[in-house]
Amino acid sequence: MAESSWRDELARTITDVAGLPDYLTLTDDERRFFDAPPEAHGPLALKVPLAVVRRMVEAARRAGGQVLSTDPLRRQFIPTAAELETQPYELADPLGEERYSPVPRLIHRYPDRALLLVTDQCVVHCRYCFRSRFTGGSHGGISRDELRAVESYLAAHTEIRELILSGGDALMLGDGALADVLDAARHARPDIVFRVATRIPVVMPGRVTAELARLLRARAPLWVVVQANHPDELHAEASQALSVLADAGIPVINQTVLLAGVNDDAKTLDELFTALVRLRVKPYYLFQADLAPGTSHFRVNVERALWIVAELRRRLSGLAMPVFAVDIPGGAGKVPLEPSALIGEDESGYRLRAADGHVHHYPKEEG
Ligand code: SF4
Repeated sequence: MAESSWRDELARTITDVAGLPDYLTLTDDERRFFDAPPEAHGPLALKVPLAVVRRMVEAARRAGGQVLSTDPLRRQFIPTAAELETQPYELADPLGEERYSPVPRLIHRYPDRALLLVTDQCVVHCRYCFRSRFTGGSHGGISRDELRAVESYLAAHTEIRELILSGGDALMLGDGALADVLDAARHARPDIVFRVATRIPVVMPGRVTAELARLLRARAPLWVVVQANHPDELHAEASQALSVLADAGIPVINQTVLLAGVNDDAKTLDELFTALVRLRVKPYYLFQADLAPGTSHFRVNVERALWIVAELRRRLSGLAMPVFAVDIPGGAGKVPLEPSALIGEDESGYRLRAADGHVHHYPKEEG
């Protein structure tokens, strides 16, 4: 698909309730959201590509025409009344990113890596988005002046080893603009490793052309970081887009958000991670959903999350198993969480719970 084709597809993206096709019957919960006054809605407007809506309708048809509030695509992209409720502990900037922004668009929270918000635009609005304060805003793509300030910062901060292009969605930039950003950063820092964070290969796979793959490949070392949350998202077109990247020699890793009612069971995640590995995509992180306003209906109790992680450990190889992590509210960073395998110890050794679920003895040595 040429650049103009995915732009055409983008132009057909649905951005208000009136644009939803009649054949997508809304649930009562969804209707209550749209009936609420606009000021009760959060910052993230409805945005969903027509092709994704068609997949929702197809899922309902396969289920005998029922309206499926449990459809994983629908739950991620169509708002419900639950969004109208904000919990006291939810934060507009749950990761405290604004505190760590030395120049506009750049977030430098960890010493060795920085995040560059190259655009605030996405092809889809995920209802659980932790960056909803910025996503879908009116900033658009990074300006020349902003990019120059980022170049100077990168040149002066040689402790930064990785630059993560994100947003919004980094692949919302056209090929020319994307190449400009990558080349400017590379000019400032020839040694830097890029990560390009994007939901697009899964949600609007036509954006991933052979030309785009060549552009990214030519700027190695560069990793693409995608987001897939449910095996239904890895349909033929998405799989093809991921294969285009892998065939071009671009390493691809995936971040999944643990979402209640979407993927909060070991069987679904097992299927997802197994399918990703088959597509040559390494499952990298499984994130607890962040404390963005109006997202409590997506969060899974951490104890239950750890139970799911323990079950996944029993089922999956190290290659297929991502790291489960929670972001500490306010900006203290990511904490990887594991169910503890160390059950106890005595003078002769440790008691460890193995993948078979049983507790085994492991000897204690000096040193
Ligand atoms: S694609 Fe990413 S930035 Fe955009 S709405 Fe979804 S989670 Fe947020």
